[in-house]
Amino acid sequence: MQPLKYHLSYWERETFFKDIDLVVIGSGIVGLTAAIHYKSLRPKAKVVVIERGALPIGASTRNAGFACFGSMTELLDDLTHMSEDTVLGIVEKRWRGLQRLRNLIGDEALDYKGLGGYEMFTEEEETIFQQCLERIPDFNEKIGAITGRKSVYSVVDDRLPSFGFRGVRHLLLNEAEGQVNTGKMMAALLQKAREAGVDVYNGLGIKHLEDTSRGVELETEYGWSITVPRVLVAVNGFAQQIMPGLAVQPARNQVLITQPIAGLPVEGCFHYDRGYYYFRNIDGRILLGGGRNLAFDTEATDQFGSNELIRSALVQLLKTVICPGRQIEIDTWWSGILGLGPVKKPIVEKASENVVLALRLSGMGVAIGTLVGQEGAELSI
Ligand SMILES: Cc1cc2nc3c(=O)[nH]c(=O)nc-3n(C[C@H](O)[C@H](O)[C@H](O)COP(=O)(O)OP(=O)(O)OC[C@H]3O[C@@H](n4cnc5c(N)ncnc54)[C@H](O)[C@@H]3O)c2cc1C
Repeated sequence: MQPLKYHLSYWERETFFKDIDLVVIGSGIVGLTAAIHYKSLRPKAKVVVIERGALPIGASTRNAGFACFGSMTELLDDLTHMSEDTVLGIVEKRWRGLQRLRNLIGDEALDYKGLGGYEMFTEEEETIFQQCLERIPDFNEKIGAITGRKSVYSVVDDRLPSFGFRGVRHLLLNEAEGQVNTGKMMAALLQKAREAGVDVYNGLGIKHLEDTSRGVELETEYGWSITVPRVLVAVNGFAQQIMPGLAVQPARNQVLITQPIAGLPVEGCFHYDRGYYYFRNIDGRILLGGGRNLAFDTEATDQFGSNELIRSALVQLLKTVICPGRQIEIDTWWSGILGLGPVKKPIVEKASENVVLALRLSGMGVAIGTLVGQEGAELSI
């Protein structure tokens, strides 16, 4: 079906699209925190968030809700292609971002729970586990300086029996990791944006933008255009659709959630196989996602959809390792789109005089998104 094409009426143009100071494209965690922060800096400004979906539809309403700032295998992997200063700099931003998110929304509205994060290691992963073990004192010192905690990482193999996993040999705890309720987080952000006086227009996709001498021209998918003085682009994994050539690669992730499981012993966030798999408890259920490493090429897409190879691997993991010997029913599946880059670093910069980019958050957006949004807003002033 061809998208509807029409012209803006005089009333629409003069009421909704007149005297705008800033348009934010994308109502994910970055776009909404940017709009809220901009309004706090410029209370009289007219700020409009333009969102293609009926709800935000990218990563922010589809993620796992890990309030994480770095598991040990992730950091060790980062250290193979980034300097230690860069890696610790990202950890620090994730940590600060989380504190800002918690301050902005409040732990109750976020349903924040500091249940810790664990990395699981099977028998075949003994070598990588030993590498982690050697680095614990060093990591605790350096990441302790960021988080203000003495021993962030520790081995807790004694907790293994209580979780009921099969074939897991070691557990490494990150005691400062938490979890949020992703749906509540986004609902609270939308509410905060509206309370701050931000207009959020849904179902409005931007097809093209151009910074001209008259302002930034935004062409919508309905065929009509508006010209505004400033634009902040917060479209993450969809960036190439409107700014071809930008170094942002979309990456799809598959996620499942089970029906409630009676007496579920799993509590906390769990990372497995270098972070390619992740699961947690929520409402007495298991949320499990990942497996992108099984099909990197097909998952390098900005189209939502399923991948049967990955989905069957997730079911296998669920039934044989996470909840062995239990009757488990899957409630539903979904996919979400990440924005990745050649380096694990968000882009927060001016693309031109009046266009600011705040995007490419990898798998870190719950943690780092508030900070990126706020930095983007400050650049847009
Ligand atoms: C399955 C999954 C699990 C994850 N788990 C975690 C986790 O546990 N912890 C963590 O920290 N991070 C996690 N992440 C990453 C995190 O969710 C993202 O980094 C973060 O949500 C990115 O936020 P954003 O606002 O930049 O982008 P998005 O949330 O993707 O928002 C971009 C918005 O822009 C809109 N848009 C795009 N193009 C246009 C257009 N042309 N016109 C108008 N609107 C447009 C989209 O509809 C979308 O709503 C996960 C991601 C996925 C997919």
